[in-house]
Parts: sequence; structure tokens; C-alpha cells
Amino acid sequence: MNILQSNKRPIIISGPCSAETEEQVIQTARDLKATGKVDILRAGIWKPRTRPNSFEGVGEIGLDWLINAGKETNLPVITEVANAKHVEATLKAGFNRLWIGARTTVNPFAVQEIADALKGTNVEVLVKNPINPDLNLWIGAIERFKNVGISEVHAIHRGFSSFNNRKYRNDPMWEIPLGLKREFPEIKLICDPSHITGKRDLLQEVSQKAMDLIYDGLMIESHIDPDNAWSDAAQQITPATLSNLINELVLRNESSLDKQVAKDLSDLRLSINSIDNEILSLISQRMNVAEEIGIYKKENNVTILQPKRWGTIQKKLIENAENQGLSIKFVKKYLEAIHQESIRHQTAIMNK
Ligand code: PEP
Ligand code: MN
Repeated sequence: MNILQSNKRPIIISGPCSAETEEQVIQTARDLKATGKVDILRAGIWKPRTRPNSFEGVGEIGLDWLINAGKETNLPVITEVANAKHVEATLKAGFNRLWIGARTTVNPFAVQEIADALKGTNVEVLVKNPINPDLNLWIGAIERFKNVGISEVHAIHRGFSSFNNRKYRNDPMWEIPLGLKREFPEIKLICDPSHITGKRDLLQEVSQKAMDLIYDGLMIESHIDPDNAWSDAAQQITPATLSNLINELVLRNESSLDKQVAKDLSDLRLSINSIDNEILSLISQRMNVAEEIGIYKKENNVTILQPKRWGTIQKKLIENAENQGLSIKFVKKYLEAIHQESIRHQTAIMNK
């Protein structure tokens, strides 16, 4: 049974960021197999790196290491391709499952070239999200593979490059992969906590979050000697640590069969719905007041934007919100949206 077509959850893909030596690949594969928890063995052969002179992968020679490790351990294997030449080499070596890296998904020319090279094969393709938070680019890449007749196309969420997220290496922006799942409900959605977090200490919490959001699987980098890995050392874990991580995941059901639980949940949801309606009505009242202010501003020739006043209000509200257990990030986003909408209402008044 093909694992990506099965209902197993979570599907676990693991293996080193990069194939480094034949020894490292086979030993990692054996240790992963011994955990009994891994479904697919991964390793990068060609590594897209931010700067040249970093380790850029062992290249073609590593393809056979991975294929042989897969044969010995009876694990299916997967590697990354970034151009048609890579596709040709992997097909020749016997791969029938490939992933597209985040730096490739951003480039429709590269994606199309790879899709064309795969036309007529029954290779499974897992498409990582693009580096930038553009849902359509991700959708478009998936469509390019579907359009050439690849029937098994799935998605890997590895987070998005961002300037202001210091906690994670790549901001997860969970709403984007969930948007993808709405567009393609049939595809398997795999979370890659390794590239999201960039730090092994955060793998457990992000993996758990993915499970709570009903992801189908996890792709987690593992290495026999993580600290000395040639790439992404800080985020790799040993196969034994991976095994513990999976043991500790709590797998919750999407819907509970227990009648009392279902009723309690439904009551809570009703209360959420009613609060949401109240919030909307309050915001609408707030906009009415903003419009009245707009009329005063117009009559007295005062600008719509009052940066100083807005700054003071924001500071007070953020303090208040923090005391009530809301995150600063959320409150800032919320205030920004409210302010924009307020300005829109006042501008309409000014232009009347
Ligand atoms: C990888 O999986 O090792 C990799 C290079 O990932 P990404 O394309 O997500 O950076
Ligand atoms: Mn990596």
C-alpha cells in the first residue's frame, strides 16, 4: 500500500538534511528503521544554499546511497529536485517520489521545467511552500504537476521567510497552508517543523500544533550526529529523539463520538458564534462614532490622520490587552485593521 494514499496519520518522513557520506546515510536509515515509526526516508542530494561556498550537497553520487539505504531497510525514499537534470538523474537512479524545495516553488519556470521532465511518469511529487507567503504561487506549482498528469501531488509546509519573526527560522503563518487545504482538500498536507523552527527545542510544540490542525504528516530532519551535520545542524535530531517526539504527540480526533462531549462542544461553539456577532456589532457602532468624528473633522478642517493621538491610544490598548492575556502581535494586527477601517469610513465622509 502506498503510504501517501493510505489513511495513516501522521505519516513520518525523516532523514538527514543532506546526504554526507554513504556511511551516514545507511546508518541513519538503519536507526530510523529501528524506531519502527518512519514511513519514508529523506535526504537532500543537491542543496540550495543561501551563500556559495557552503556545502552544496554531494551531488549525483549520493543518489545510489539513498536508493541502497531504502532497499536495505525496506523504506521508500525521497529527495529534492530543482531542475530537469536532477529529474533525469533521479529517475535513472530509481526514485519514484520527489520533493520540490521552497526556493524552487517560487519560480514558475523551474517548476514547469520539472513538471515537463516528469510528464508520463508515475512519480509522486511533494511541493514545499514558496519562501514568500504567496498562496497562489503554491497553488500554481501544484497545478503545474497536476496539469502534466501527475496524479499524486502533495504539499509540505515549511514556513515563510520573514524579517520580524525571531522565534522561528521561518514564520509558519498557519493560515496559508490551511488555505491550500481548502483549495485542494484531497491532498496530503505534511508539516516540516525542522525548517519552520530552525531549532530542535521547538520541534515538539510545532509538531503538536500541526497534529491539532489535522495535518496528515510530518517531515523532520534526523542525523546520527546532529551537532556535526554539514547543513542545518541546529535543527536536526537523532533517530532516538525523533522516536520520543512521536511518542509524545497527542493525536486528537476531529470529532468526538462521545455524545456529552459533542453537546458540550456544540454549546461552546454557540457561545463563540454569539460573541463573534457581538464583536461585529460593537465594531460597527465604533465605525458610526468614527463617522461622526469625521463630520466634525470636515467642518473644522482637521486631518483624518492624527498620528500622535493614535500612538497614545495604541500604547494604552496594548497594555490593557496584555493584562487580559492577548498577545501583543495579535492586538497590533487587530488595531491596525480597525484603524484602517475607521480611516476608510472617515475618508468617505470627507469626500461626500
Ligand atoms: C530541505 O528540506 O532540506 C530544504 C532545503 O528545505 P527548504 O526547501 O524547505 O528550505
Ligand atoms: Mn535542511
